[in-house]
Amino acid sequence: MYHSTDVTSGKKSCIDTRQPPAYSACPSLLGEPMDLLTYKAFLVDLDGCLRYGRQPAPGAALLLQTLRRRGKSILVLTNTSSTGADELAKDLQSIGLDLSPSEIQTTFDAVGEYIRDRFGPANVLCIGTPALQERLRRDGHEVLPLSRYHEAKAVIVGRDQEFNIERMVAAAKAIDEGAAFIALNMDIRLPVEGGDYTAAAGPFVAAVSALAYQEPEVLGKPSPVFFELALRRLGAAPQEAVMIGDNVETDIRGGKAAGLFSILITDSNVKPTADRSQADLVVHNVAALLGYFDHRL
Ligand SMILES: [Mg+2]
Repeated sequence: MYHSTDVTSGKKSCIDTRQPPAYSACPSLLGEPMDLLTYKAFLVDLDGCLRYGRQPAPGAALLLQTLRRRGKSILVLTNTSSTGADELAKDLQSIGLDLSPSEIQTTFDAVGEYIRDRFGPANVLCIGTPALQERLRRDGHEVLPLSRYHEAKAVIVGRDQEFNIERMVAAAKAIDEGAAFIALNMDIRLPVEGGDYTAAAGPFVAAVSALAYQEPEVLGKPSPVFFELALRRLGAAPQEAVMIGDNVETDIRGGKAAGLFSILITDSNVKPTADRSQADLVVHNVAALLGYFDHRL
């Protein structure tokens, strides 16, 4: 373990380089033991932190148990655009991660309410999964067929396994005609089993953005809206909360901007060139975080 300093900002980070995970306290920048137990609420990213595809991450179940035993609030904060909290909770329980739907916040579930706050029930063009389209309908919106793109009040883009040129062109034309362009997230790579990855929503958003000559509004991390919603749900102030994530651009940058202590997980290697010094603490995986709790057990 060592303390690093970013040469451009002069900012220091506590970097834990130990592998496999260690179980001793990390000295803070002031030389005192770092004590994560002083925080009340823990926001944890899902993919690349708690799971890799269908595999639970090493230490993930134990981390959740430890947080619960200590009376901490937990909220899984995920940019996923293809699955809602109800289904995710079932998926996670099936791989031994005990989380309820109320402990999971997704852009999938948040986008309908976000659109309703902005426009009321609206005609939307959805570039995303059938499940996302159904979720928007449940939230009171009309999901338009591609041929009615000109009626769209908003274009919503998530991860779309059936993405094609027709969808891309309809979305761009709707944006040309003044529809709001809302991306569920800009994540590029979605980590899966065995250190592999697939495409997250970002590449689809980038294609629409290029064709429309327009940048999207981003609902998910690092957007402050998504963090504010999370803190409100948990009843926590920013200084009482921790963000744990594997993506510097979304989890760490968003967490820091929202005022949270932010911990970077490096195991999934979402973007090997990312600037790790932006994080307050860097660890290999969530198992390594247990050391920051267990020293007081
Ligand atoms: Mg992640």
